[in-house]
Amino acid sequence: MSMATSELAAHHDLDAFGDHVRAWLAERLDRHLPADGTHNHSDEERSYAIFHNRTEDEERELLDRGRAWQAERVDAGVGAITWAPEWGGPGLTASHERIYVELEGQFRAPDRHENILVTVELIAPTIHLLGTEEQKKRFVPTFLRTDELCCQLFSEPGAGSDLASLSTRAVRTDTGWRITGQKVWTSGAQFSEWGLLIARSDTEAPKHRGMTAFLVPMDAPGVEVRPIRQMSGGSTFNEVFLSDVELPDSLRLGEVGDGWNVTLTTLGFERSSSGGIVSAGGNAADLIALAKQLEIADDPLVRQTLADVVIHERATATFNARYAERELAGHVPGVEGSIAKLVWTQNLKQIGDAAAKFLGPRILADTGAPNTYAWTEHVLGAPGYRIAGGSDEIQRNIIGERGLGLPRDSR
Ligand SMILES: Cc1cc2nc3c(=O)[nH]c(=O)nc-3n(C[C@H](O)[C@H](O)[C@H](O)COP(=O)(O)OP(=O)(O)OC[C@H]3O[C@@H](n4cnc5c(N)ncnc54)[C@H](O)[C@@H]3O)c2cc1C
Repeated sequence: MSMATSELAAHHDLDAFGDHVRAWLAERLDRHLPADGTHNHSDEERSYAIFHNRTEDEERELLDRGRAWQAERVDAGVGAITWAPEWGGPGLTASHERIYVELEGQFRAPDRHENILVTVELIAPTIHLLGTEEQKKRFVPTFLRTDELCCQLFSEPGAGSDLASLSTRAVRTDTGWRITGQKVWTSGAQFSEWGLLIARSDTEAPKHRGMTAFLVPMDAPGVEVRPIRQMSGGSTFNEVFLSDVELPDSLRLGEVGDGWNVTLTTLGFERSSSGGIVSAGGNAADLIALAKQLEIADDPLVRQTLADVVIHERATATFNARYAERELAGHVPGVEGSIAKLVWTQNLKQIGDAAAKFLGPRILADTGAPNTYAWTEHVLGAPGYRIAGGSDEIQRNIIGERGLGLPRDSR
């Protein structure tokens, strides 16, 4: 545990922790908001992009800044707040983490790139839960600091919502495993050193039992990454082709045939993380600022929409908080993550719809007025998160079946 981390661990008192974090952030970053919390950035050109339209070099630069910030945060004890000292964290609570996220939101912090979120929020905890001691030591600290990045090699052209239909094959060899197949929609594959892959290792077993998980070095012979162009302009995700990729058995994560459990564990972390930590696109404060800028904030229907957006934002935060507390108490990720993700994605859509309605034709053509046409990128990006990490419909199925005990969806 570093000096800074041990000092921080002494701040169990939430107010003292908040003061410490505020001072630490203020030493390093400019503020978004005035210190009194009032929000007024109407003169400041903002980005409301959910997925960015950047070249590969620009994307890499952004990612490098995000990685450096994540490493600095971990070293100061605020990048892996709930993690125990042996993994580089101060071992504080989900409440401390919430306070940190809220305070950092008041500053201009480097972007939390999706690739960083996947590595830190999804893959590191999955390996921590299911990896061997050797794998945990090798991967958890480096993924938490983002010294190396890991992408998620799950979806295939014929397997998305019904992921258990995947057909990428893992065949035993004398020295380990040979992997052959194709993955798709792999976010950040072009920037990642590693990929968490699910493959079919047994074609005879029932489909949920015949899969095994592996950690794949993305520079291994036979791995080919091809970027996909998105409708918002950028290329954040990719096709990944695996042609006779040789892996040692030491890179298998979990037992042979236990790949479905690995998948569900990662997806459980994904549902909770996407609902809370991702701050992509415009939020309630931005929409309120827009209504004020357009001088429509006294319209009763506009006010009703703004209130609804704020309620959804608070509900997402509450479900995330409940999820985080349950997880820290040792429960497996559950239905709260699905509810949080659904409430969050519904709100992303609601915010985009409201911005388009407020702006009218100004969302279709750039008039040069600040913070107007920029909302286009929110509107174009919002459908992405309603699909990624399990679509809205799949979240509803999970809530219905596991939360409400309704009869199972026919599969
Ligand atoms: C921005 C983005 C990033 C992504 N990043 C990654 C990544 O890094 N790694 C990765 O592996 N994958 C990634 N994905 C892929 C994502 O996980 C899949 O797109 C998702 O699981 C849906 O699968 P699909 O696209 O094959 O759609 P399908 O499963 O074919 O679904 C099509 C439609 O049918 C509906 N549907 C399907 N089954 C049911 C059902 N049982 N009940 C009701 N409705 C149903 C769906 O809701 C959807 O509307 C990403 C996707 C997006 C959009």
